[in-house]
Amino acid sequence: MKFSQPATARTYNRLRVLNVLSLQGECSRADIARILKLNKPSTSEIIDGLLQEGLVEETGKKETSNGRRPISIRLKKDALMVLAVDMGSRNTSVGLADMEGNLLRFERFPTGQRPKAQELCYSVIKSCLRMSRVATSPIVGIVVAVNGIISEDKKILVSNDLWNWEETPLSEAIETNTHIPTILVHNVEAMVQGERWFANETSENFFYVNWAEHIGSAWVTPKNISAAQSQFGHISIAPTGLCRCGNIGCLETIASGWALSEKNDNKTVKQICSDPTEQSIRDLQSACSAMAKALAQASAITGCQKIILGGGISNIDDSYLQYLRQEYAKKAHFKQADTPISRSPLSDKAGLLGCVATALDTWIFERSLIRTLDLS
Ligand SMILES: [Zn+2]
Repeated sequence: MKFSQPATARTYNRLRVLNVLSLQGECSRADIARILKLNKPSTSEIIDGLLQEGLVEETGKKETSNGRRPISIRLKKDALMVLAVDMGSRNTSVGLADMEGNLLRFERFPTGQRPKAQELCYSVIKSCLRMSRVATSPIVGIVVAVNGIISEDKKILVSNDLWNWEETPLSEAIETNTHIPTILVHNVEAMVQGERWFANETSENFFYVNWAEHIGSAWVTPKNISAAQSQFGHISIAPTGLCRCGNIGCLETIASGWALSEKNDNKTVKQICSDPTEQSIRDLQSACSAMAKALAQASAITGCQKIILGGGISNIDDSYLQYLRQEYAKKAHFKQADTPISRSPLSDKAGLLGCVATALDTWIFERSLIRTLDLS
């Protein structure tokens, strides 16, 4: 990508320098110039600017093989902070993170059954205010992940099937009380961002499943993450079983956290796994089999090159995951049968870390913008 306007080029190169430091850690000015194919005066000018902004710092002297010892540059990781809020259907988590995405503070409280918007918002605001009091540097923004349709300006939760919220100005409520810029993001889209940012996921084309209390998905292609309108959890899998959506035989009736919990004395899937019974083992196998069947359909439609399972239930024992892979291989079209199925290493923090990644991307690094520019 070439820019004709020097100011635009400088903005772009400043972001590229920040991203190199974020991805590679400590670098000398010469390293950065070489990686970005920039000349040394421009590189130095950008780094001097970042030093003045306080976003990077010089670190001692770095040994090199030919004896010269240039000064290294690294991100000043606590120069800026972000807040992440994951409004899950079971729990809501709030975290304060630095520029490297380290969680410095973390709180979790039950979301409650069918919470009222005002009440949940009040709890979130109180938690954000507690975090902002302990933050040692400016918080540049808050990202709230929620399952629903979000307005184009990322400010309004247009609809949310689980809680029947409509046209809810969530970000305005939070901004007014915290005085921190706030945006909303679809929860599974956030998880994909987290996967790229913290799990070094570099695949350009994959199908991501949030396997949790409810089941959501995102189809990820080089320029798009398609999650908000997906009804993956409601693919028809079985002839019976009433789903919470009102349909019969949805994937969720067999494989979701709520369904597994209903079938096993209201225990969470974590509890079911730690104290298995014959019944719960059968239920988990059925869940894996149903998930495999749904994934076979998804891969036939999307042609995805990889499947990633995230969310709490993706932490099931390896034996179940292995069973799921076998079932998938049996059910998928032969051209898709060897599509790799992996689990997210981010575990049950995938949603929250996804918000952190989205916040860092939006207010500090603009990595997805750079990706788009570099792809065009
Ligand atoms: Zn359903």
